[in-house]
Amino acid sequence: MPELRKDPITGRWVIISTDRSRRPMDFLRESVKIKGGNFCPFCPGNEGKTPSEVLAYGRNGSGRDTPGWSLRVVPNKFPALGIEGSLDREGEGLFDRMNGIGAHEVVIESPDHRSTLATMPQKAVEEILWACRDRMLDLKNDRRFRYILLFKNHGEPAGASLEHTHSQLIALPIVPRRVREEVDSAKRYYDEKERCIFCDMIRQEIDIGDRMILGNEYFLALAPYAPRFPFETWILPRQHSSAFENMPTPYYGSLAEVLRDFLGRLDSVLSFPSYNLVVHTSPLGEEINDHYHWHIEMMPKLTKVAGFEWGTGFYINPTPPEESARFLRGAT
Ligand SMILES: [Zn+2]
Ligand SMILES: [Zn+2]
Ligand SMILES: [Zn+2]
Repeated sequence: MPELRKDPITGRWVIISTDRSRRPMDFLRESVKIKGGNFCPFCPGNEGKTPSEVLAYGRNGSGRDTPGWSLRVVPNKFPALGIEGSLDREGEGLFDRMNGIGAHEVVIESPDHRSTLATMPQKAVEEILWACRDRMLDLKNDRRFRYILLFKNHGEPAGASLEHTHSQLIALPIVPRRVREEVDSAKRYYDEKERCIFCDMIRQEIDIGDRMILGNEYFLALAPYAPRFPFETWILPRQHSSAFENMPTPYYGSLAEVLRDFLGRLDSVLSFPSYNLVVHTSPLGEEINDHYHWHIEMMPKLTKVAGFEWGTGFYINPTPPEESARFLRGAT
């Protein structure tokens, strides 16, 4: 019998089909294969083909926008939003508009065209997390911004237009609706119980164990109770932490370890799937709080969103999270 499950944080319902449960091998998909060969603006030597860098790590005396870096952050050449100007919020009758102001940056995660987060050394993954933190702290100084979304599209089916490993940061003049819903709902729970709903969920998931994937001292990866997509996974700090960019120092290395281990398992279970990864952290100006627990949501691209999902906002997931967690726990 299929089951309807409700996510306690967003209130979103999903249909988990337990009868026709699909195992890793049942998904038709393209493995992400890094071919190389074509011209790549993110490879060393081509620094002049990107906008001028705003941050670089690893340089040993080499000049700006030249080779010698281990990681580079540059403005997106084709930004979703523009950095110059003012918002000019206004109404047009019952409609609202403002100028498309924002920042859109690309973190070029490695000079090596062929490396991925799953294959690069843990220290390099940690450096990426530090770079994202540095950029978030800097972008926060711009008072026009209300939210900074950090995300990664891996593989062409997941929307990556360049195969060279990279993440993106977009600073927005509004708090995105999906985040607002999570924060507000977590706040309501907190007002009622004086506990963080994520901390409660973590405690319960550790007790139950069925949906746990892996963990270390500071982080854990689990399959959520009501996942929208097969093999959807959340990575969360074990202890309450409301903002990615304000974590204690040892957390970054610990997160790098869990992230890399998890992505390696995902590659082995689903043979190198494309995926989307998003960081949900507190909105700017409300970073220090007891109700919202920052986390990573990670969705491998295995199914297509179709009419039912568009029409209802709830998803049909053919793989129960207890099964996906079991496969990922067992992987090496
Ligand atoms: Zn490249
Ligand atoms: Zn919490
Ligand atoms: Zn979230």
